[in-house]
Amino acid sequence: MEGDRDRGLLYDSDPPSPPLSPPPPLSLTFFDRERHVTFLEMMYHMLPYHYQSQEINHLTLAYFVISGLDILDALDRISIQNGSHLASTYCALAILKIVGYNLSNMDSESILTSMRSLQQPDGSFMPIHIGAERDLRFLYCAAAICFMLNNWNGMDREKAKEYILNCQSYDGGFGLTPGSESHGGATYCAIASLRLMGFIGDDCLSNASAPSSKANIQSLLDWSLQRQVADGGIQGRPNKPSDTCYAFWIGATMGTLGANKFIDEKALRSFLLTCQSECGGFGKFPQELPDLYHSYYGLAAFSILGEAGLKPLCLELGVTEAAATGL
Ligand SMILES: [Zn+2]
Repeated sequence: MEGDRDRGLLYDSDPPSPPLSPPPPLSLTFFDRERHVTFLEMMYHMLPYHYQSQEINHLTLAYFVISGLDILDALDRISIQNGSHLASTYCALAILKIVGYNLSNMDSESILTSMRSLQQPDGSFMPIHIGAERDLRFLYCAAAICFMLNNWNGMDREKAKEYILNCQSYDGGFGLTPGSESHGGATYCAIASLRLMGFIGDDCLSNASAPSSKANIQSLLDWSLQRQVADGGIQGRPNKPSDTCYAFWIGATMGTLGANKFIDEKALRSFLLTCQSECGGFGKFPQELPDLYHSYYGLAAFSILGEAGLKPLCLELGVTEAAATGL
């Protein structure tokens, strides 16, 4: 795995090449509706790739594209079935749940049918229908989508579980793909997915050797615990500096396994406070400027640590318990 993947955990890092054939010459004599539709359609498909450095603006950009297509009376040119990115669908549904929308009002069958066709023979998921990498991030998105829609027709859970288990590395952590290096974000995706799919129960630790679960929980706990380092913070991989977001990725993994008590919470809290910014939010490292991604996971980590005044999290879904349960 190259570089620091945590910044865009839910987004692809390798943009696909756009088609290079030059467009026909522009007519300046009429309103070229078709050209605008094509342009917006292209933007719709490329948003997850080309704007990954502008995470804050994703929804705003999506609004411009979708409302623009609506003005052009061309909404039929895009659809969940052939255009949507699994990560965007996950984010959109999570937002709807947070604002209290009843997802049973949605036409979930079309989302699920489309999603099921994204699952590969090895159990993994591609995020879109064409030319994309596949790994645990998208499997997690698929599991979270099924969980939120309360309908598992969108995936073959047994195959998905098989893929996840194949991603566990010799050292106990999980890589994004089978055989790749263990990584905090991938480990979260693996354990949270297993939990969402119902393969990890509340009594996970007491059943750590149950034959139904082939994940090696003990070595996973050992690997996860070793990620908390001398400064109290948590790293995503061995020999990397502590980073705010892994307080969530690893903390939520431990929490899902019922093993929070093994984390030195006092030391972790002290580390996170050094990453808290004077302007609000959290930076990736101590004394760094805040960014949205690390601010969110910093807050989430403080919730896991039981900070007064913060709502408890549904660890496996990454939203508050209240949003997850619809209460
Ligand atoms: Zn990070």
